Amino acid sequence: MQVLKQLLANDRIQKVWNNAQIPVFCLLPGGADTCARRVLLVRLPPDAGTRVWLRAGRVRNPQWQPDAGAWRLPVSWLDSVIEQSLEDLGAAYFIHMYKPEQRCTHSCQTARRLECECSCLGAYHRIAWKELQTYGTTEGFKVPLVELAFACRKLVHLASGDRMAVNL
Ligand SMILES: [Zn+2]
Repeated sequence: MQVLKQLLANDRIQKVWNNAQIPVFCLLPGGADTCARRVLLVRLPPDAGTRVWLRAGRVRNPQWQPDAGAWRLPVSWLDSVIEQSLEDLGAAYFIHMYKPEQRCTHSCQTARRLECECSCLGAYHRIAWKELQTYGTTEGFKVPLVELAFACRKLVHLASGDRMAVNL
């Protein structure tokens, strides 16, 4: 969890990580300390009730990672758990890799999945799909680490906030 340690050294990430209301999803890249596989972590607010939907209807159990203070989930759950979080709690933070040099093009705007490494920080992600406009990114910031860059996006139901404005 070396990358997570580096992320948590950032004040804004630490604030998001320890917030008391909104689940935080963190997608870490594969690397030496994660056996080359990507890792999906979720940090939940103290209210234990919010934990229930984590495994709802699924065969596998989330694994508690004491060193991270978070649950480890199969990466294949990514979209469904974030969407569940938006349904149940109205919001989710999503921390993931970010490529500042990646221009925002069709592949971001017409994406189906939630993951987005594009320079728009999620502002235009999936914007082409009217039927997927139930949520939007309302806040986002960049977290440059030594070797990698990350983005932290706040997703909310559009009824409760406006899409973030980003100048490309
Ligand atoms: Zn984009």
